[in-house]
Amino acid sequence: MNGLMLARRELFPNVLELNFQARRRFGCCVYLVFSGPDWLLLDIGYEESVDELIELIRQMDFPLAGCRYLVATHADADHVQGFARAKELLPGAALVAHPEAKKILESGDRIASFAEIPAQKISIDLPRLNFDRTINEGDTLALGNLKLEVWDTPGHAVGQLSFRMGHLLFSGDNIFRDGCVGSIDAHHGSDLPSFIASLKRIQSSGVEWLLPSHGPAFRNDRKLLQAAIDRLGRYQHMADFGTCAVDWPLLDEWEAELASGKAPG
Ligand SMILES: [Zn+2]
Repeated sequence: MNGLMLARRELFPNVLELNFQARRRFGCCVYLVFSGPDWLLLDIGYEESVDELIELIRQMDFPLAGCRYLVATHADADHVQGFARAKELLPGAALVAHPEAKKILESGDRIASFAEIPAQKISIDLPRLNFDRTINEGDTLALGNLKLEVWDTPGHAVGQLSFRMGHLLFSGDNIFRDGCVGSIDAHHGSDLPSFIASLKRIQSSGVEWLLPSHGPAFRNDRKLLQAAIDRLGRYQHMADFGTCAVDWPLLDEWEAELASGKAPG
């Protein structure tokens, strides 16, 4: 270490978040977990910010050869677009994701990854990625003397992972500090019943802090989670999210009214 080393602003012991570190917003949250010289990144964000983020990491005196894993929480372009560039700068790191996220990104699926949303004229590059390993529910990512428990938490997207480390949960796009949840979109593989199951799991986990993929970390508050669970519970029976609903009671009512000859009023 030398006098020019940039001080690490730990969010929690052994955890940095690079927007928080830089005191400005690059994009999605990029968590750096470290143990001695070993470290990993959860998500990377857009390609345009990768060089700057890696330089920031270098200035904090992390050896670039110490990067063990580059982890995609899920296959959304705003979380993973930069991984191809990151792999060039960190060739020793293993790029890992859930098998479903790997499938989306290795096949270059531009719809499921949100790289292409024609109705909103969103069309961004999505460099093809090659994953070194898949990880799934029940696996552990070992890093020095730390262990990250891998949770499969689908709902916002298929193949969305969360990672538990003691009283912390890196919670992806399950829920944010204002109670919003990751976007619900059928083309994206969203599924309301599994989303609710993921939120219930987080709520009852005993985890104290949620470290989301967007916005600041916040407490795993029972009421905040319950409000989201209740809201998504209602969406299951509403037309608002189209084919993501499991049923639409209005159509049953209508059918009964049609059969009975009921007129408006
Ligand atoms: Zn996201």
